[in-house]
Amino acid sequence: MVAEEYVLVTGGAGFIGSHTIVELLEKDIPVIVVDNMTNAVGGKEDDELPPVLQRIKSIVPPEKSQRMVFIKGSYGDEEILAKIFTKYKVSSVMHFGGFKAVGESKKLPMMYYSNNLGGSMKLIQVMQKHGVTKMIFSSSATVYSEPGPEDLPLTEKCPTGNCTCPYASTKYFIENMLKDLCHADPSWTVISLRYFNPVGAHPSGSIGEDPKGIPNNLMPYIAQVAVKRRSHLDIFGNDYPTKDGTGVRDYVHIVDLAKGHTAALDVLDQKKGFVAYNLGTGVGTSVLEMLKCFSEAVGRELPFKMCDRRPGDVAEVYCDPSLAAKELNWRATKTVADMCRDLWSFQSKNPNGYAS
Ligand code: UDP
Repeated sequence: MVAEEYVLVTGGAGFIGSHTIVELLEKDIPVIVVDNMTNAVGGKEDDELPPVLQRIKSIVPPEKSQRMVFIKGSYGDEEILAKIFTKYKVSSVMHFGGFKAVGESKKLPMMYYSNNLGGSMKLIQVMQKHGVTKMIFSSSATVYSEPGPEDLPLTEKCPTGNCTCPYASTKYFIENMLKDLCHADPSWTVISLRYFNPVGAHPSGSIGEDPKGIPNNLMPYIAQVAVKRRSHLDIFGNDYPTKDGTGVRDYVHIVDLAKGHTAALDVLDQKKGFVAYNLGTGVGTSVLEMLKCFSEAVGRELPFKMCDRRPGDVAEVYCDPSLAAKELNWRATKTVADMCRDLWSFQSKNPNGYAS
């Protein structure tokens, strides 16, 4: 019997990882999930499946979801990784794991460098040792050097680096490390997916975004205002040179984003070296437009206050997603209204996230 080939998913209990696991399982691809659960709600007992993975089992038919293996541990733990690579035949790694809070990274840069960069180095070394040389890496639009209006829409050729926070720098450094590795060893292929602003939830309303503490990002914050966990939304600046003065971003539905990963996996074996793709819609939406659309999904006005700009924010960011369309055959198909409807479905069913 030929051994089944698994995709190893680091950080699989997180927002983007969990939605991607659904898409992988739906395509009959077996997955091994590694997550140390520092940023996600864990099971009551150590050996219990975390709520997010239990819910995946309620979305995906049992004959598919039984092909998911969960291992609680850090993706940078060489011992755990060695055991996984010895026991299972791993064909490729989707590397979602890592800390991701911009503000926290400014306060605790060494924690970010040590976990994101240090952990990724260990992961890559263990992969090398076991002859696994294919990776899909969770990168971010924040790797692009602070874009001005003349740089929009951002293409993959736009300059990267000079990042505005340690979190973004870790993504930039990991991309560079992976580029060097691919240059030095032609057996390696890395597809780096530069996410714009992933929002929404699975249309079932069973899985979604469940940030720990006060949300840093716009949509989870608005969603918590809607369930009255927060009194109102603070809008960070209404004097930007944008359509209505508030910040403009390229929001992409989480299910579209997840499908971007399976599209990348489909071509991973045909690609050579390091390639980066933007995953976004190519359309910019303002904070006020998002608030209005989400209020419509909820069916009532949501309270907000205009505040000062948030330090480090740029006025407007959106991408040119045409390279992903051409080479991955991937396009975002869902609208901002779909994002708001699905986010509200998850948040209203789970007002306190997975702890609900
Ligand atoms: N934003 C806001 N209030 C919040 C969080 C975000 O007005 O509580 C704005 C922010 O200034 C930006 C947009 O919403 O213009 C998206 O912010 P987010 O943090 O979600 O994404 P990023 O800025 O990292 O792209």
